[in-house]
Amino acid sequence: MAVKFLDLHGQYLRHQTELDAAIQRVIRNSSFIGGAEVEAFEQEFAEWLGARHCVGCANGTDAIEILLEALGIGVGDEVIVPAMTWISTSEAVTSIGAVPVFSDILPGRFTMDPEDVARKMTDKTRAIIPVHLYGLAAEMDALLGLAQKHGLKVLEDCAQAQGAEYRGRKVGILGDGASFSFYPGKNLGAYGDAGAMVTNDAEVAQRVKLIARHGQFRKHEHLLEGRSSRLDGMQAAVLRAKLPYLNDWTEIRRRTAEMYQEILSGTQLQLPGEPENCRHVYHLFVVRSDQRDKLREFLSKRGIESSVHYPVALPFTRVYQERFGHGPEDFPSAFMMQSSILSLPMGEHMTEEMVAEVGDAIQEFETP
Ligand SMILES: *Cc1c(COP(=O)(O)O)cnc(C)c1O
Repeated sequence: MAVKFLDLHGQYLRHQTELDAAIQRVIRNSSFIGGAEVEAFEQEFAEWLGARHCVGCANGTDAIEILLEALGIGVGDEVIVPAMTWISTSEAVTSIGAVPVFSDILPGRFTMDPEDVARKMTDKTRAIIPVHLYGLAAEMDALLGLAQKHGLKVLEDCAQAQGAEYRGRKVGILGDGASFSFYPGKNLGAYGDAGAMVTNDAEVAQRVKLIARHGQFRKHEHLLEGRSSRLDGMQAAVLRAKLPYLNDWTEIRRRTAEMYQEILSGTQLQLPGEPENCRHVYHLFVVRSDQRDKLREFLSKRGIESSVHYPVALPFTRVYQERFGHGPEDFPSAFMMQSSILSLPMGEHMTEEMVAEVGDAIQEFETP
């Protein structure tokens, strides 16, 4: 049996009536940019999250960039980001003229290591961006403590963690602001690019709105030079159709993770953990293996898709290698993880049979 890594088509078929109707609604109303769908989604998403303000934008990378700018970060400032994340996190820092400074990750937890963050702080440090990687909240108590002590802003990158919790609170409302991506493959995905910025601070909310809408609250009254980063009506309507199912989808992801834990507990793989004070939403189910590449090939031959997030930690990618010249000894955990991590199929399409199929294949790989 083939096992897909992700099944967007299956999801569409299961909710086709609502999704088709949502798209039709936008076309009939010609509300392509802004309008009622966007406003309704912003409100519904904020409510679901427990946040005061949500402002839609074009994608998750823009969301980080605009939030940084709204938080007053700019040229020459240093922003600490984790060594293991998608490049958006550090790219956004560079785009606004600031300098990304990498911190190592906690081995096995994969989120930024607060002790290394403390070591990387200088008198130019102005903000930190914890990434709730794979759907698991970063160690927020320690990071918020550091930020408070040193007067730093905290921007949560929640692209992979819609609905994840830390000490009973959803991520996205723990810092000064939070960015979300609704890239199609995320736990809540649009049918194109989409993102959102979330904050409990009314002033930050006003500023991100202003920046994302050409510096205007009212047409032709430009209070500053902003940019164009909008959530379009079609994406908002699709997201509104899907949001009511997100909690159920998360439950299926969590149940899938539980089944993986059971089936894989006797194997040589190292499995992801869920710290007691966290609720993991398993955007990805990432295991570690000494024979990662061989295992991946074996699974692929059995029709089981897998992926690697990410095969090269950011400080070791070409662009940052050339700029900063970091070596493996600077980020020992990220360096060790990058060659052993493997993301197994995960999503609300997963059935017990699919998990069993993956489990059987892994056992067969280990004891042929
Ligand atoms: C997907 C992702 C982003 C960026 O989102 P886009 O919508 O693709 O711009 C940012 N950070 C992380 C950690 C992501 O996984």
